Amino acid sequence: MCKLVSVSDILDGKLTEKEVEIKGWLVTKRSSGGVQFLIIRDGTGFIQATVHKNEVSEATFKAADELTQESSLIIRGVVKEDKRAPGGYEIRVKDLQIIHLAEQDYPLAKKEHGIDFLMKHRQLWIRSPRQTAILRIRAEVIKACRDFLDSRGFVLTDAPIFTPAAVEGTTTLFEVPYFGEKAYLTQSGQLYVEATIAAFGKVYCFGPTFRAEKSKTPRHLTEFWMVEPEMAFCDFEENLKVQEEMVTYIVKTVLERRRRELETLKRDVKPLQKVEPPFERISYTEAIDMLQKAGFPIQWGEDLGAPHERYISLQFEKPVFVHRYPAKAKAFYMQPDPENPEVVLCADLMAPEGYGEIIGGSQRIHDLKLLEKRIEEFGLPRQAYEWYLDLRRYGSVPHSGFGLGIERTVMWICKLKHIREAIPFPRTITRIYP
Ligand code: ATP
Ligand code: MG
Repeated sequence: MCKLVSVSDILDGKLTEKEVEIKGWLVTKRSSGGVQFLIIRDGTGFIQATVHKNEVSEATFKAADELTQESSLIIRGVVKEDKRAPGGYEIRVKDLQIIHLAEQDYPLAKKEHGIDFLMKHRQLWIRSPRQTAILRIRAEVIKACRDFLDSRGFVLTDAPIFTPAAVEGTTTLFEVPYFGEKAYLTQSGQLYVEATIAAFGKVYCFGPTFRAEKSKTPRHLTEFWMVEPEMAFCDFEENLKVQEEMVTYIVKTVLERRRRELETLKRDVKPLQKVEPPFERISYTEAIDMLQKAGFPIQWGEDLGAPHERYISLQFEKPVFVHRYPAKAKAFYMQPDPENPEVVLCADLMAPEGYGEIIGGSQRIHDLKLLEKRIEEFGLPRQAYEWYLDLRRYGSVPHSGFGLGIERTVMWICKLKHIREAIPFPRTITRIYP
């Protein structure tokens, strides 16, 4: 009996000269002088398998000859080291069994396709080497976030997806009918994790969030995943420290565990190797200064847009925190800076290489009176926030937290031009199929 193995173990050199079985799919095929060269994918990697006419039964050679692209199959054979094969190893096939002979004319058979065509065939496109590399890195990023937080005593407390009120602003809310009432898809779980800190101290939520982003940009999805840690007895500075350590841990984990995928993407890893604490820090006011000097027509008080973030991020080799934004440009719950109440104790983390914001975080207002005042100033419906005000009535503590966008992080680590590749089935302003 030969053993069912994974392609990744073969490529790691663990199975050389062993007889193995692989279950997978045919990616491409060519033949030359009585040999069929198959490239097979099993979900863990891609490997070459060769079927030699004079080494297999007539039925096996015929089966190999009949194979169409994307057919599912089981092969048995011996692992050989071979420098000429992609990945350095190949399987000398002894036996081949077709599980499903795929229909002719695989839609993505041609090498080059327009993005629209690929997006319409996302259900097939996700099988390609580049897409599987990205999605594996995505899974690693998510695991790294969770491992980091779990190992430091954070408790996962999931926030609801249906919410009664907007957390920040209403312009990007998706409204859904809810038994004769209106509900909204969540834009952030933050207010709810602010509640669970009083039960657990350090918590996080991780889940999909929804924003009806009206503008079409390469870094906005309408549905994206966010990890949102929140910490009791945590001030602005301590919050930044956790972010630095978490982002460093994510990058290091991907560098360590997903080297092959980064190679598939031809990602230059040198900039990623530079990611370690402490990150750079500049105030919003310094950022405005820097931008004005570079010729951007931006005034103090305006929020930073993508071109601004891009410029700032390109000035540094490491991720950079831009901190203390004008209170008016940010959310109602952010703690004013005691040294200058015009600005709040918040920071956005800009990823390097021009990527811009991947994290938004802040210290939250813990004083009841001040929070009530802010809700009024922002013109928010007081009633909807009664439960949230309770958190300042019963055991209020200084607390801070942040939200890290999974797809933005994957986009940067994989160096993607567009965020749509960073999630299995992207949702954007113009796309909801498949
Ligand atoms: P931006 O200014 O880039 O739209 P934001 O200020 O609206 O971001 P936050 O509300 O602070 O973002 O959300 C926290 C994080 O969630 C961001 O740092 C980013 O990583 C991610 N994020 C926000 N909006 C989107 C989106 N539409 N698509 C993908 N990720 C997003
Ligand atoms: Mg936004």
